[in-house]
Amino acid sequence: MAENYDLIAIGGGSAGVAAARRAAEYGAKALVIERGAMGGTCVNVGCVPKKVMWHAAELAQAFREATDYGFDVTQPGHDWAQLVERRGNYIRRLNGIYEHNLDKESVDWVRGTARLVDAHTVDVNGTEYKAPHVIVATGGEPIVPDLPGAEHGISSDGFFESIERPQRVAVVGSGYIAVELGGVLGGLGSDVQLFARYDSILRTLDDMLQSAAISGLEQHGIKVKLNSIPASVSRDGDELMLETENGKQHGPFDALIWAIGRRPLTAELGVADAGIETNERGYVIVDKLQETNVEGVYAIGDVTGQLELTPVAIDAGRRLSDRLFGGMEGRYLDYKNIPTVIFSHPPIGTVGLTEAQAREQYDDAVRIYTSDFVPLYYGVLDEKVRANMKLVCVGDDEKVVGCHLAGQGSDEILQGFAVAIKMGACKQDLDDTVSIHPTSAEELVTMR
Ligand SMILES: Cc1cc2nc3c(=O)[nH]c(=O)nc-3n(C[C@H](O)[C@H](O)[C@H](O)COP(=O)(O)OP(=O)(O)OC[C@H]3O[C@@H](n4cnc5c(N)ncnc54)[C@H](O)[C@@H]3O)c2cc1C
Repeated sequence: MAENYDLIAIGGGSAGVAAARRAAEYGAKALVIERGAMGGTCVNVGCVPKKVMWHAAELAQAFREATDYGFDVTQPGHDWAQLVERRGNYIRRLNGIYEHNLDKESVDWVRGTARLVDAHTVDVNGTEYKAPHVIVATGGEPIVPDLPGAEHGISSDGFFESIERPQRVAVVGSGYIAVELGGVLGGLGSDVQLFARYDSILRTLDDMLQSAAISGLEQHGIKVKLNSIPASVSRDGDELMLETENGKQHGPFDALIWAIGRRPLTAELGVADAGIETNERGYVIVDKLQETNVEGVYAIGDVTGQLELTPVAIDAGRRLSDRLFGGMEGRYLDYKNIPTVIFSHPPIGTVGLTEAQAREQYDDAVRIYTSDFVPLYYGVLDEKVRANMKLVCVGDDEKVVGCHLAGQGSDEILQGFAVAIKMGACKQDLDDTVSIHPTSAEELVTMR
């Protein structure tokens, strides 16, 4: 006999847990099915361990800069293994907190790999669970390319398993994960080469940010190799060589990291067998209410291939449960103006339209404001790291439709400006706001 629920969330990551907990708040009987550690990608092999490593690289940078602030310090050694251990302890605490929160809110959870028997029946370890509402929230996994010797490389998952810092590293990819992992390794002392397929990196971002990202990497000693398409990897003892399509050999490297994208996890679950439509890349197709083509079956988070970010997964999940169980008819997540940060060194933040997108949509009605400056922190340092900011405004009222930041503090500055943009702020609103001095953020309210 199957166990019956009001809602089953398949996947105990950001999306599934958020949806189930919100459903339970409304009194729904909810079940989360997770095959691995609770918390999913973000907690275990994504945002959280990445940000810990980013902090370590920022600290290393601070030590290098401290002498210019009068400190009598030499660059201290760094124990990577110790950091990995402490990071692991922190993550295990978070795993426990996730489980505890589910228990506290009376959400049932089972560990095991889910398989859809039909659209409303899920098998886990031989037990069947049924619900009128089933959420596919199985996330994704890193792609390893189908190239000779590709197996010698590791993915971001493998990076987080590394208990030693590789000294000579090839990072293949040009998205945020490539930039962030390359930045961490470079910041902590590795010799990093980043291989990008096209003539830029972070290509979905505003041009200004793409240039700033390349400068930031190069300033930290990371070699950015553009138009470099991997062809094969070979191993000789502990050393790896990367061959690119132009016939060039690169290396030797102690590690090669594939950071070329992610793909959705749908096959094991049997999404197609249950009649749930996916697109050509395997992502579950949903409408704005996160509904699939099968009634009562929804998909949220990375498995939908929309903006693959934790807060997006969480907010989509919560809104779905608000709608299904909280009486909030028509509630859904608006995917416009979602802010995001790339934890590079210095960090990059972006929300809204790029200048190019705005010009395409609004043509001559676009007005751009920029600022390129050295933050005060670097005033006394010999080596300056510049900051760049851009506001993209449209129309006579100069409504702000895009805000792009690269520079120290961008990661923390952006959130508040994202609120203003979401509320429809115009340039004059920013001008009318008294600045906080001396900060980098004040540039955004003083641009002319
Ligand atoms: C290196 C890296 C860094 C990142 N950094 C950031 C960041 O700084 N900020 C940010 O917002 N986002 C970041 N992300 C993205 C973020 O982690 C994802 O957007 C988020 O985790 C998506 O949540 P989800 O619930 O959709 O999927 P996931 O978190 O992947 O959860 C899906 C869960 O489903 C489980 N599962 C899969 N198939 C089955 C099955 N058949 N049965 C049972 N369980 C199953 C998986 O084990 C997994 O735990 C990062 C990602 C990576 C890889």
